[in-house]
Amino acid sequence: MANTHQKPHAILIPYPLQGHVIPFVNLAIKLASKGFTITFINTQSVHHQISKAQTDSADDIFAGARNSALDIRYSTVSDGLPLEFDRSLNHDEFMESILHVFSDYVEELIAKIVESAVPPVTCLIADTFYVWPTTIGKKFGLINVSFWTEPALVFTLYYHMELLRNNGHFASNDNRKDTISYIPGVWAIEPTDLMSYLQATDIATVVHRIIFKAFEEAKAADIILCNTVQELEPETISALQVKKPFYAIGPIFPTGFTKSSVATNLWSESDCTQWLNTKPHGSVLYISFGSYAHASKNDIVEIAKGLLLSKVNFIWVLRPDIVSSDDGDPLPEGFEEEIGETAMIVPWCCQIEVLSHPAIGGFVTHCGWNSILESIWCRVPMLCFPLLTDQFTNRRLVVDDWRVGINLKDGKTVNADEVSEKIDRLMGGKSGEEFRKEINEVRKVLENALMADGSSEKNLDQFVEDLMVTIR
Ligand code: UDP
Repeated sequence: MANTHQKPHAILIPYPLQGHVIPFVNLAIKLASKGFTITFINTQSVHHQISKAQTDSADDIFAGARNSALDIRYSTVSDGLPLEFDRSLNHDEFMESILHVFSDYVEELIAKIVESAVPPVTCLIADTFYVWPTTIGKKFGLINVSFWTEPALVFTLYYHMELLRNNGHFASNDNRKDTISYIPGVWAIEPTDLMSYLQATDIATVVHRIIFKAFEEAKAADIILCNTVQELEPETISALQVKKPFYAIGPIFPTGFTKSSVATNLWSESDCTQWLNTKPHGSVLYISFGSYAHASKNDIVEIAKGLLLSKVNFIWVLRPDIVSSDDGDPLPEGFEEEIGETAMIVPWCCQIEVLSHPAIGGFVTHCGWNSILESIWCRVPMLCFPLLTDQFTNRRLVVDDWRVGINLKDGKTVNADEVSEKIDRLMGGKSGEEFRKEINEVRKVLENALMADGSSEKNLDQFVEDLMVTIR
């Protein structure tokens, strides 16, 4: 099939969520700049949403990058549901379709691509959360590369789900509450820091079925790529490398970390730069809960009151679906009039642009992994407000391991006084300075990893080299 001087050709398929599409696009550009031919596949629904969000139509989201002579082809595939289906509102039906229907469409499309591709397709780089890469990869003789867009700590906890279950920390009626200290490469972790799906008592859900199958697949993958840095999670990564070829290649950012020339946003961006330009250095708090997590109305109200008490300038990204129940505007009455010029509330923005603005001094984040990496890169300390999935585990890295943030809520709910007091601690005085000092150190780790002789750059080159040996 492959000849001796074959150029590698990878098919990339991200999970159809914002936080997965972005690192996949950046990986596509990185691999293309190393000489790969890339065929990038988005779901039709993601593509439709990206197109709607653009002022210019985006028939091919890579059109801007292709001017720089990168060989990136673009295709779309149905996720099994009509375009107008509300995937956020009907999340379980969406997941069922991803679990049961999507693979048929993917297989059909890959068959077509493989049949006529020049150069021939060599590997499939699919999101680790997919349940079909082994079957489809094997069928078409492709090397199966699994791309994990979250930290290695989260990967290893899912990888060792059975061990957690056997020890009674997961999937028992009464999960153990004591510290977990038997996961290879993780010296200790509290059960409350596990991903929400591993803390849940009901495991008969569609998401659990996806996770169980996806990690069987991850174990069968030929290679794992991870959007993390070797020096940030050294023990965890070393322990995983004993089991599998595991390459830490993060943070996977657009070149220069400016706005990407590729359209990746699923919603239209509001401009915040002009407003930020009027604010003093380090004076603005940025607040965002990412692309799909929902918060309770009570939490939104308490955060809003805490912001008023603290008198801080802020930009708050409040998606229209931030509160899942339909109780109207989640903000307290009169809030928007009261904040006046001190704040901006927007449905979506270019987060990278906002975080890198000198006026930003702190970030209230739900602890999505991309947000954490971006915040560290921009040297912005965090107030951590995890809502679901890996966000609890990511919080542990930010607050306990790297000390570049504070927990926003210590109990089950937040209250306004606590919010205000913690904003002051994060952004002002001696403690604020301490956080900025610490985050500078962690930023250096990311920066070094991306240098020509840095660990992530070398790991990516090693991945390419190992792949070439396999296809010869
Ligand atoms: N993001 C953005 N604008 C916003 C909010 C988020 O561009 O208003 C981007 C953010 O920069 C990040 C991604 O959306 O790259 C969200 O990914 P993350 O892993 O932080 O959270 P998720 O949405 O997956 O929960």
